[in-house]
Amino acid sequence: MSEPTHIKHTIKKILDQYVICDMCGRSIKDDEDHNAYHKMNPHPSDMRGGLCVECVDYANHMAFDQAIEIVQDDLNEINKAKFMSLPFGKQCWIILKLDKMGAFKWTIG
Ligand SMILES: [Zn+2]
Repeated sequence: MSEPTHIKHTIKKILDQYVICDMCGRSIKDDEDHNAYHKMNPHPSDMRGGLCVECVDYANHMAFDQAIEIVQDDLNEINKAKFMSLPFGKQCWIILKLDKMGAFKWTIG
């Protein structure tokens, strides 16, 4: 027996308002208070996930600021200006990508 259509629609509506945080895997509400990637275009996550505010805070503590400085020092003026104009969440996402590629001597997270 399947659930009535109106229940299916309600569940879908609720699920559509949530995304999975790329860093911690928690489900978070997809709004600007909870998801750092909310309405970001192009979307910074391959998985169309999110980045919760707790992870952004955690990321702060994990020396993202320092990593951002290192990256901007390595860029030419044009790319540096582009990089610096990005929102913090997206800069963190780029740092994480670079970190995965082994760009830093230390590891984030
Ligand atoms: Zn998270």
